[in-house]
Amino acid sequence: MKFVSTRGAAPTLEFSEVVLAGLASDGGLYVPESMPQISEATFRSWQGLPYDDLAIEVMWPFVEGSMPRATFESMVRDAYGSFRHTGIAPSKQLTHDTWLLELFHGPTLAFKDFALQLLGRLLDYFLAERGERGVVMGATSGDTGSAAIEGARHSAHLDVVILHPYQRVSEVQRRQMTTVLSDNVHNLAIKGNFDDCQAIVKASFMDQQFVAPNRLLAVNSINLARIMAQTVYYIYAGLRLGALDRPIAFSVPSANFGDVFGGYLARQMGFPIAHFTVATNANDALVRGLAGDLSRKPLLKTLSPSMDIVVSSNFERLLFDLHDRDGAAMNQLMQDFQTHAVQLAPSVVEKARALFSAHAVDDVTTCATIRRVFEETGELVDPHTATGIEALCVAPAEMTKVVLATAHPAKFAEAVQNAGFDEVPLPSDMADLMTREERYTVLENEMSDVQQFIRSVMG
Ligand SMILES: *Cc1c(COP(=O)(O)O)cnc(C)c1O
Repeated sequence: MKFVSTRGAAPTLEFSEVVLAGLASDGGLYVPESMPQISEATFRSWQGLPYDDLAIEVMWPFVEGSMPRATFESMVRDAYGSFRHTGIAPSKQLTHDTWLLELFHGPTLAFKDFALQLLGRLLDYFLAERGERGVVMGATSGDTGSAAIEGARHSAHLDVVILHPYQRVSEVQRRQMTTVLSDNVHNLAIKGNFDDCQAIVKASFMDQQFVAPNRLLAVNSINLARIMAQTVYYIYAGLRLGALDRPIAFSVPSANFGDVFGGYLARQMGFPIAHFTVATNANDALVRGLAGDLSRKPLLKTLSPSMDIVVSSNFERLLFDLHDRDGAAMNQLMQDFQTHAVQLAPSVVEKARALFSAHAVDDVTTCATIRRVFEETGELVDPHTATGIEALCVAPAEMTKVVLATAHPAKFAEAVQNAGFDEVPLPSDMADLMTREERYTVLENEMSDVQQFIRSVMG
């Protein structure tokens, strides 16, 4: 498969190059040049496959040509072998027509493990092939950092440097990162906020003198391999819940639109998903974007912190399709959006409306939803998942509905307690997390200090 940039000016790349590149050189995001078309008969033949077998079938058209099939097969089995539930992505019935797709059985208890367990292995393989080492560098306010660390802790060709704001992430989230004592894992606590961490990472990626000797790798959701891995569970759940025979809608707690875009790709392959509902918290950039208003609002701190964003990076991938894959038009649009709010054309909004609905859920409603769902079903859901359940109020009523449960409630104690519940216990294999040895380095909020640190660990 070949990959093109949403802004039309970067070179067309092969899979391995896309995985290593992250962002395109023209500032755009890579998308498949064309999607493989899977027939209904083939989808039917996949019914009943275990998760890892299905994952291999769904992802192979992307990967083919970059490695032997047997190598990819063992990589996928290894990636999902660390999950706590043998179903990997089980669906649980919530009401007569609504299901929860549980995506929190991976090592760090959030859906990001689906992508990062695989991405760490892909990066390691492609670097080994080239005889190179790389540095995964990222900033985190929680979920991404721990998932990236877990995904790369065993990689022989990768170092992982994760910046988090000193004393500003929850203790569970910090410990999920800092108790991984592998030699190639480096946690930096920066004396600043998340935006400061993000700014240091962004500036380092643009600093050619720094990038050239240290192959920097991005593992945020602009990396196409992450999206590809997330396509699988839509098909896995859809096949089990009858998507081939009746209309099915997915409701997705969303921030950067990476998770939803995985479902959209499944549909582009021919899998019959009738509708997507996009759920946000009070940071409602996607609700406004899908209504045609591309604009920035100040960041709000909410009880669903993994959805606290100002600009939704992967939305550009959908906009590219909605603009008939016109890279030049996208380039203009995104340049305009750099400096001011942009109104999308009515025809573009109409196309979006045909497939997507969207709804913003504030913290008070999120807590009320956590309580209501518990009273009605006995399920205790995390605050991100709660926004997805509440957003069903804008989903088509007559469809089978699947809400993506993106995190385990034990990860988000503050919201769960706000909703009136005691703290939720961690899974038993993590019960000693609070007493494990930690390792991290505290640094000033200075790019030069961070770069100096990386140079020293890279020798
Ligand atoms: C990252 C994250 C999200 C948002 O996912 P996007 O791909 O950015 O839309 C939702 N819930 C949880 C728990 C997350 O960690």
